[in-house]
Amino acid sequence: MKPRTSHPEIHGWRKWVSRSLDLLYPPRCVVCQVGLADGRALCDVCDADLPRIAEPFCQKCGEVFPGKIEDKFACPNCHHLKFAFDFARPAALRDDRTLDMIHRLKYGRELHLAKDLGRLAAEAFSDSRLAPALAGGWPLIPVPLHRRRQQIRHFNQAEEISRVLSGHTGLPLLRGLKRIRSTEHQTALTRSQRLENLRGAFAVTPAGERHFSGSTAGAVLVDDVLTTGSTVDECARVLRRAGLQNVVVVTVMRG
Ligand SMILES: [Zn+2]
Ligand SMILES: [Zn+2]
Repeated sequence: MKPRTSHPEIHGWRKWVSRSLDLLYPPRCVVCQVGLADGRALCDVCDADLPRIAEPFCQKCGEVFPGKIEDKFACPNCHHLKFAFDFARPAALRDDRTLDMIHRLKYGRELHLAKDLGRLAAEAFSDSRLAPALAGGWPLIPVPLHRRRQQIRHFNQAEEISRVLSGHTGLPLLRGLKRIRSTEHQTALTRSQRLENLRGAFAVTPAGERHFSGSTAGAVLVDDVLTTGSTVDECARVLRRAGLQNVVVVTVMRG
């Protein structure tokens, strides 16, 4: 048996501090492991290499199509769907490296990754359709987690991304929605089952009500990944009901 060199509690504490410092100041690029000195999580080469959404893409859901599309609004995924939001604009294309960063933020609690993911999401604002949001100072509303889930995770990844996004865009962060019903195990459901499952899951917070009593021009819903769009659709429905005239969606990645 190996002899202990220090008191086990102190040893554990030092390990925790060292790990926390590594999390706060990651010494290596999250993708290629190259050493980084500036406290960023992603090196310039890997950052440039992560695929972004580029034209032509669906003007509703951001799905990218190879080649030319005649009708901007005809996307085989959603041309028959009616969303409560005006459009969703993910910044990045589906990519394992980007998804890994999102998963590490969400499930690995690597909070420092929010900085690079938020910066990535901010690129969506180069889309001219988001100009009214920037000009009008629409609030960034993160898709909320249920209180229980947030207690377990200690943070909401959409809110962390929104906070960084707020720094880049100057738009205010507004915790305007809350999840009043837990909606777990969504993945196995069909689209209509998902929508049914999500009904009544969200509500406007008092902070949201205060904000909307002064301005109903619009809001930007923020989430990490846009997959089927069911969750942001339900959030947008609640915001419309609260009187908002425009609801747009910005996410880091198209799932
Ligand atoms: Zn790298
Ligand atoms: Zn689409």
